[in-house]
Amino acid sequence: MKVRIFDTTLRDGEQTPGVALSPTQKFDIAKKLDALGVDAIETGFPVISDGEMQAIKMITKENFNAELCGLARTDKKDIDLIVDSGLKYVHTFIATSDIHLQYKLKITRDEALAKAIDAVEYAKSRGLQVEFSAEDATRTDRDFLNKVFGQVAKAGADRIDIPDTVGYATPAYIAQITKDAIATTKLPVSVHCHNDFGLAVANAISGIQAGAQCAHVTINGIGERAGNASLEEFVMALQCLQFDKKYETNINTKLLYETSKYISNQVGVHVQRNKAIVGENAFGHESGIHTHGVLSNPLTYEPIGPELVGRTRWLQVGKHAGAHGISAMLNDYGIDPTREQTHKILEKVKNLGDQGKQVTDVELLSIAGDVMKDTTFKRIVHLTGFSVSTGIGNMPYAFVKLEIEGKEFVATDHGVGPVDASLNAIQKITGEIAEVRIKEYKLDSIAGGSNALCEVTIKVEDASGNVAAAKSIGEDIVTTSVQAMIEGINRIMLKKIVKQKKSERQS
Ligand code: MN
Repeated sequence: MKVRIFDTTLRDGEQTPGVALSPTQKFDIAKKLDALGVDAIETGFPVISDGEMQAIKMITKENFNAELCGLARTDKKDIDLIVDSGLKYVHTFIATSDIHLQYKLKITRDEALAKAIDAVEYAKSRGLQVEFSAEDATRTDRDFLNKVFGQVAKAGADRIDIPDTVGYATPAYIAQITKDAIATTKLPVSVHCHNDFGLAVANAISGIQAGAQCAHVTINGIGERAGNASLEEFVMALQCLQFDKKYETNINTKLLYETSKYISNQVGVHVQRNKAIVGENAFGHESGIHTHGVLSNPLTYEPIGPELVGRTRWLQVGKHAGAHGISAMLNDYGIDPTREQTHKILEKVKNLGDQGKQVTDVELLSIAGDVMKDTTFKRIVHLTGFSVSTGIGNMPYAFVKLEIEGKEFVATDHGVGPVDASLNAIQKITGEIAEVRIKEYKLDSIAGGSNALCEVTIKVEDASGNVAAAKSIGEDIVTTSVQAMIEGINRIMLKKIVKQKKSERQS
């Protein structure tokens, strides 16, 4: 069965606290969603601002494959704005739970029902496709909910949506009211699940199993409070898990990771490392037992191949590492330690791990170089000292101390800002040794206050055109930039060494 994906990243997703998008950003995101293959895009809520209206107009002018929808209250004014924005499809909603009726809308059940019917009739008279949502459906009296759905269906609604507005439903309850809604209306039903209890995706799947044809989802599960059902989790679960029916979607799953990263950057909401499908760790392995298993056959510790969602598997060395993983990583760099050497390297890696340190592959190679008495890896650059001064009226100025091949190098330089000054100072030293220069520098702040995390991505290039990328995450923009730069320099130098070693072996 084909499941319809209604993406609400640009509407409910934008309602994530602290998130606001410009019209161009919304347009660019809509393009990405369309390329991903979503069936419908909820573009926004036209009534909220001029910028929102402008964004929706930009989107409706483009020729997208996805159906384009907009949100409206059950008011004529809201519905008129949907038409003005160029949309042909409205998602109109009114709350139906007693809590919302009594404390928010201050109207009776009958008044709410009348407003719902009027809005649907009006939207139909204006030529719109109408999806009707009974807000807070899962806390609404079950008989009243059915009555509302039945009446709006009679009034001409094309689709019914069941919003679990505060994530209050259990999978079993969503299934029951989905079946009710289908039986009463005979219309296509959607489920709109929130993640307040971590059940959004489970509830959405339960709705689909009960006969719903569509789920409202967002990329990375962003949305109000704990967010919405996440598109990538929902789509992959439907496609890969065992159900009594086969479910499919129009999503090009190979674009999931790229789209997730793009949205995360645009909205400034970082994806947690351990998030399913798109989190940094979702296809990473450190433990020796797991790494050994994955190297023999990835199916041992991965339910799906990372390439299915546009990713690659990675192995990390650390205190849980094992000999197989370490030698596999070193083999990738053209290094073949003996059994004895591998165990010595492993011991050193575990010592670092026990001190609470992360071991990057650059450090692993440096350790291997030590153990194997291979001096080619001695060119690793270590940052041993660093300070920077900045302010208004004085020139940003940096002092950097590096250790390369056991020798110490010191440099100072200035720049337009502290980051520029620091990177200039580093390049003063490494420029002579490795002729490395910065090709690209990108700074992303991960939303929050002045203590927010930042992410620095650097691409460096050497004289022979080799390029290496490095990334660093930290609290201090300057220190994080310096660390990323050092990592990039080391990577590019290692690439060179590995190339040399390989060609020496061949000759
Ligand atoms: Mn919602």
